[in-house]
Amino acid sequence: MSAAMSDLIPFNWPHMTGKELYYIAEAHFNGRLAGDGPFSMRCHRWMEEKFGCRKVLLTHSCTAALEMTALLLDIQAGDEIIMPSYTFVSTANAFVLRGGVPVFVDIREDTLNLNEQLIEAAITPRTRAIVPVHYAGVACEMDVIMAVAKRHDLKVVEDAAQGVMASYKGRPLGAIGDLGAYSFHETKNVISGEGGALLVNDPALAQRAEIIREKGTDRSSFFRGEVDKYSWQEVGSSFLPGELVAAFLWAQLEEVDRITQTRLTAWQRYHNLLEPLEARGLLRRPIVPSSCQHNAHMYYVLLSHDIDRNHALAELRRNGISSVSHYVPLHSSPAGRRYGRMHGDLSVTDRQAARLIRLPMWVGLMEEQQKRVADALSQVQSSTATRPVPFLAS
Ligand SMILES: *Cc1c(COP(=O)(O)O)cnc(C)c1O
Repeated sequence: MSAAMSDLIPFNWPHMTGKELYYIAEAHFNGRLAGDGPFSMRCHRWMEEKFGCRKVLLTHSCTAALEMTALLLDIQAGDEIIMPSYTFVSTANAFVLRGGVPVFVDIREDTLNLNEQLIEAAITPRTRAIVPVHYAGVACEMDVIMAVAKRHDLKVVEDAAQGVMASYKGRPLGAIGDLGAYSFHETKNVISGEGGALLVNDPALAQRAEIIREKGTDRSSFFRGEVDKYSWQEVGSSFLPGELVAAFLWAQLEEVDRITQTRLTAWQRYHNLLEPLEARGLLRRPIVPSSCQHNAHMYYVLLSHDIDRNHALAELRRNGISSVSHYVPLHSSPAGRRYGRMHGDLSVTDRQAARLIRLPMWVGLMEEQQKRVADALSQVQSSTATRPVPFLAS
């Protein structure tokens, strides 16, 4: 049964464009199943042109792409990397794997992105890089971040996992910093099940990126006929996906404009439906600065401080709506406390993370369903006691 026909409204529903199996059959027929075959190359070239990026390389995940950035920047034990605490674990974990120390800086009230005004004070002689995370596909204040990085000779790695097809002052996210990372995980806008891409904007890093991705060898140059044999050049691993994944992804990339447009329409419908609830003081809607073109990756709301979040989520579930909270800030998680350090007070992170819920958002979500979500949300304030809720699988 399709999600659109069900009474339950799932939080996410992976969208297939229709040609995925056709391209997978073509890859099968081609008889080239390892990485960097014709479909991988097509995805690389297409993204390089579309996003105006020096080099794009498919990876197994955004996590893998972030791990590649730590290798590319030659992160050593004790090196510090400035990032938000309000992010997915992979942002920090990729650097901790190399002995790096995440330094958590607070976020902005409005976009929930790294507060660019607080970065400079967090810089020490050990600082090597800044990792802005574009939450919900809304860009960080990149002009300021790039200027700070330049002044202190730091690298910028964009965690653009949620930012495919979003831009900042007309520049695609992921293609602004020295390096960028995309995710094609099933929960993102453009998907291949598990999948990702590394974007290399710094030309000095382009060749090493190929080597690190191919087990530390110059196999990519060998395949292009530039060397007559390939050999171990430096530390690397296997970061490239096989052709079946690339074939699936190609079917998605072909439809990326339609996917983005459809999501933006649904996003705007929520925004209109929830305006009266914001006016009543029940919640705050997302804020998108005028310099940012977002991609409708997510529709979240920040509940008013006097609403109990668990109660709100339970009320939505009772109405057959699957809504979820988001990150446990890394500085308050066991591994974050062990491996990272806080810079200053992270009160905005704590406050906003505790009141945020994400609403169902997927291609095919219908206006009637969104009205049900808005209606259920508008009931939340008047209910006081939390009654037992039957379990509903999402
Ligand atoms: C989804 C996500 C990741 C991880 O992506 P994978 O492709 O699942 O590895 C990393 N960072 C952020 C901000 C994400 O949203």
